[in-house]
Amino acid sequence: MASKDNCSFCGRPRNQVGVLITGGTGNICDECVRHAFDVIELEDAHTGKQSKDKHHNGKMLKPMEIKQHLDEYVIGQDEAKKVLAVAVYNHYKRINQGANADNIEIEKSNIMLVGETGTGKTLLAKTIAKMLDVPFAIVDATVLTEAGYVGEDIESLLVRLLQNADYDVPRAEKGIVFIDEIDKIARKGDNPSITRDVSGEGVQQGLLKLLEGSVVNVPPQGGRKHPEQKMIAVNTKNILFICGGAFEGIDKIIARRLNTKVVGFGAREKTKEVDKNNFLQYVAPQDLRSFGLIPEIIGRIPVLAHLDPLDRDALRRILVEPKNALSKQYSELFKMDNVELSFDDETFDFIVDKAIEFKLGARGLRSICEAIMIDAMFETPSAHVKTLVITKEFAQRRFEKSLIA
Ligand code: ADP
Repeated sequence: MASKDNCSFCGRPRNQVGVLITGGTGNICDECVRHAFDVIELEDAHTGKQSKDKHHNGKMLKPMEIKQHLDEYVIGQDEAKKVLAVAVYNHYKRINQGANADNIEIEKSNIMLVGETGTGKTLLAKTIAKMLDVPFAIVDATVLTEAGYVGEDIESLLVRLLQNADYDVPRAEKGIVFIDEIDKIARKGDNPSITRDVSGEGVQQGLLKLLEGSVVNVPPQGGRKHPEQKMIAVNTKNILFICGGAFEGIDKIIARRLNTKVVGFGAREKTKEVDKNNFLQYVAPQDLRSFGLIPEIIGRIPVLAHLDPLDRDALRRILVEPKNALSKQYSELFKMDNVELSFDDETFDFIVDKAIEFKLGARGLRSICEAIMIDAMFETPSAHVKTLVITKEFAQRRFEKSLIA
């Protein structure tokens, strides 16, 4: 019979423990609860059960739910969202897949996003990672070079992920890595825009093993500056790689392919269907190959989606609609000073006009807003105002004073 005032596990008396939890037939102290938790975690890690509970808060979002979530933060880009949602869903299904009777192993579904700069590629990847509550890292493919040249090694792509996972290796091994500017490691060839070839094919070869899944030794501090550091082994088998690139000039490659394809029987009808304003929507693996990615890399990134260029309407919606839209962010800032901030509709049109005029795209919206808002943000906290309306005239005056103009 357990004593009423002792932990039934370690035997310590109530006055020597923090909390003593009393159960039906015994007691347990806080220390023993923690210890038991560690044991369970360890056991789960061995059996692979941990991933199920930890990374999805017990439930796996369905593709439609994932897309709905993306809709709250990212404007447009429906095709990319759909493709991403399915790929991510399948990826985590695959991770959580226990042994099945048929012994069918589901292959990894790394993703390639092709779209002009500033159209939301990074934002999509970031939003997905946040939603899944998995470690996420953005890395730039341009920093990579073949070992021996100045630059970073392929393994460095995982340093940031490891850091963002607080060096919890099993957690990092289920994370997402967004490799930006993947197009910059295309090999020279028939693509005139790539002028250097230190990286190129060699880097692509190096990337291969990372993408398909292998154990790589990662220097925890990154770089080569700390040769004495102990390497951490990371298995990339369950890391989802999302690659993004603008692939400048690929529209011409696509156009050429579409053109050659439509010669012949039934050509006329097919030509009619092609939307010449947005060739990216027809992007196919063979275009990436013509651009200079090696077939092996393309094979390891089987999911391909494009992002649409942002038109005036999309830019305006970006200002207003997403959960953390710029206009909402400014309102929140002013609310902290008890000022109710609002924008006239024409002000949004003005901001969008300027973003287009100066070819700044979605990224430019922020700098334009900053230019317009800086004086108001400087003066308002000391002024006794309760409301502030940003009219088009106000915006125009401030903008003209700014460096952008
Ligand atoms: P990319 O990775 O395609 O170059 P980003 O995702 O970094 O572009 O986008 C830059 C910024 O522009 C984002 O932080 C976001 O504020 C805004 N933005 C771009 N596209 C969208 C979009 N479709 N919906 C909402 N915001 C967007």
